[in-house]
Amino acid sequence: MVAASIGQRIDRIRDRIRLACERSGRDPSAVTLIAVSKTFPVETVLEAHAAGLNDFGENKAQEFAAKHEYVEARRPGEITWHFVGHLQRNKVKLVAGRAHLIHSLDSPRLARSLQDFAEANDAELECLVQVNVSGEESKFGLDPDRLQPFLAEVREFDRLRLKGLMTLASPVEDDARLRREFVTLRRLNEIAGNTIDSMRYLSMGMSADYELAVEEGATHLRVGTSLFGPRPT
Ligand SMILES: *Cc1c(COP(=O)(O)O)cnc(C)c1O
Repeated sequence: MVAASIGQRIDRIRDRIRLACERSGRDPSAVTLIAVSKTFPVETVLEAHAAGLNDFGENKAQEFAAKHEYVEARRPGEITWHFVGHLQRNKVKLVAGRAHLIHSLDSPRLARSLQDFAEANDAELECLVQVNVSGEESKFGLDPDRLQPFLAEVREFDRLRLKGLMTLASPVEDDARLRREFVTLRRLNEIAGNTIDSMRYLSMGMSADYELAVEEGATHLRVGTSLFGPRPT
């Protein structure tokens, strides 16, 4: 069997997103497919862009900055860049100013560093707050019960635009459980949105679970393997 081309994979995923939208009465234009290109070479990013993808995500600061620089030199302004991985404070300068949306704000100290960067560069930074709804110890993200105090604390950071929430669901094939986790994130975002108007985005759903995530309200899907195949090791 001949391996599917990137274009065919994109079509297949878009079809599934559309069907999930139909099942849940949603508008497909409200769902952004982010291609998570981590570990793949820049040529893969350019190829996927040529095949019709405009949103790309990376999870390591150095790799993100290098790919951003390379691609922007060739396709200036054509791509919306997402940073989806854990962000250390000493890497803020590599990521902020390059990412259109940082998905992984998860501590007041990181918020402070981002605010400082934004003030120094006279910028505003769009961020999602990462929440650990699966409760796995290994995951980054705030505990759900820390979200409200966190939001109260970061409201003083006037350079940060909080756009919503992000999560990684449990790595299980248990649809009911995954759905519960996505619903939890949606409800947390609804509550947050009552006080912070800009909180509308839900970044949830990856290769294994993006259709469920769409059904439960995801606005940003972070898909790697289903687009690019298994990651080189
Ligand atoms: C790698 C990664 C993804 C994509 O995972 P796939 O299972 O390959 O689709 C999504 N989100 C984050 C934060 C990642 O690090």
